[in-house]
Order: sequence, then C-alpha cells, then structure tokens
Amino acid sequence: MSETPLLEMRDVSVTFDGFRAINGLNLTLRPGEMRAIIGPNGAGKTTMMDIITGKTRPDTGTVQFCGEDLTKLDEPAIARLGIGRKFQKPTVFEALTVQENLLLSLSGIRAPFSVLLARLSGKEQERINQILEITRLKDHAARQAGGISHGQKQWLEIGMLLGQEPDLLLVDEPVAGMTDAETMATAELLREINQTRSVVVVEHDMDFVRALGVTVTVLHEGSVLAEGDLEDVSHDPRVIEVYLGR
Ligand code: ADP
Repeated sequence: MSETPLLEMRDVSVTFDGFRAINGLNLTLRPGEMRAIIGPNGAGKTTMMDIITGKTRPDTGTVQFCGEDLTKLDEPAIARLGIGRKFQKPTVFEALTVQENLLLSLSGIRAPFSVLLARLSGKEQERINQILEITRLKDHAARQAGGISHGQKQWLEIGMLLGQEPDLLLVDEPVAGMTDAETMATAELLREINQTRSVVVVEHDMDFVRALGVTVTVLHEGSVLAEGDLEDVSHDPRVIEVYLGR
C-alpha cells in the first residue's frame, strides 16, 4: 500500500520578470522524513522554500501538504497547518533571556508580554525544559540571548520553531558561520528532532549534509537534477558538472 506523502510538489514553476526561477519542480517528502536540499547559488532553493510557506505563489503546478492544497493558502494559514521555517540569519530577542525567547514561541500561549510577568504552568515549563534539552541550551536558559554564541542563537531559533509544534520544519543554511563542533552538534540535534517531526534542510556544508545521513535532492536551474544518498549524487557526472562548471 502506498503511503500518502507529507509534502508533494508537482510540476511547479515560477517566473520572475521573464526568468524561470523554478522550472517543473517535483519533490515528494514522506511523513517523518528528513531531506537535505543542495545546489549551486541561484538553483532555486530559497524560492522553493518560499513556495512551500506561501511567500511566493507558483505560476503553475500543485503543492500539497497532508492532502491540503497550499497554493490556495496565505502564509499564516500555512504556518497554522504545521509548517515552520527558520531563515538563515537568527532573529532572536537579544534583550530577553534564552528561556524567555522560548516562552514567547510556545504555541497557544497567552498574550506574549504578559506571559513574561506571569508564572509558567507546569506544562509550559516542562515543554521549555524539553526544548532546552534538545537545543543544548539547558545551561544557558537564564542568559541574555544577545550574549550567547552565533551557533547557540541558531539552536535557540530552532527551539523557538519547536515551540510552535510544527509537523514540518524548513531550515535554511543552519550551520553557516558555525564552528566544526557546532556544525556536528547541529546535525545531531536535527536528527533528534527528526525522531518526531519531518525536516527539510537547505545547506551548502557537505560535511554537515554527510553527518545528517539522509536523502539529498540536488536542485539546478529550478528543477531536480539528482536525488539519492550523498555518496551517489556526489559521483553523478551531471552534479559534478554543475558544481565544478564546464
Ligand atoms: P538559491 O536559494 O538556490 O541560491 P534562489 O531561489 O534564491 O536560489 O534564486 C533562484 C533564481 O531566481 C536566481 O537566479 C535569483 O536571482 C532569481 N530570483 C529569486 N527571487 C527573485 C525575485 N524576487 N525577482 C527576480 N529574480 C529572483
């Protein structure tokens, strides 16, 4: 019996001022899957994420999430369906503590700033503790977010995304600017998150992609050039050609 995909993009195209940034793109994600998206600059990775989240509307094609047609929905409606996105640059509230940042992100929570003054319910505290644990920030909960490292800010932002309980996390270049140790910890962190949620991660760092150990989709000129294990796609002559040039 074939399983219903979590996310299915079929023959999606987008043209900006006559330039076809996405060109007949097909992508299928199984429930519970983590997928890495790679491809040279300009391949269409960001535009693909923009289409999934409703920031950009495709000219043609279909995008289905759990059987819902995303092309008919706006960004907030798509987020409510359970798709969360983390952009490349971390945007945490620097003046607040790590824990306060997480608290503001919890889904279904009371009015944002009143919550900082109020006592947390046991359930809220438990959820925050879980997120602090996953994001390796337990020992930094009381620190101001402005004072933690760049890598820790990226983890905090992933934690803030988890607070919204998305079924699918879209993560854009999470390890740019990280140390090697932080990069490997991020791969481990995403693998832990993937035990309960689906993930799409766009990344250039091949050591990181290798550490994820998941299926890789290579985008080029707005469509899928190759798909499979990193070892296989990195030996594909077409992939070598687009990365190394002719
Ligand atoms: P990637 O994320 O893989 O580097 P992008 O999705 O950012 O690629 O861009 C794909 C192509 O579409 C690029 O050639 C880019 O210049 C072009 N593009 C992206 N957004 C716009 C836009 N809003 N207007 C015009 N061209 C755009």
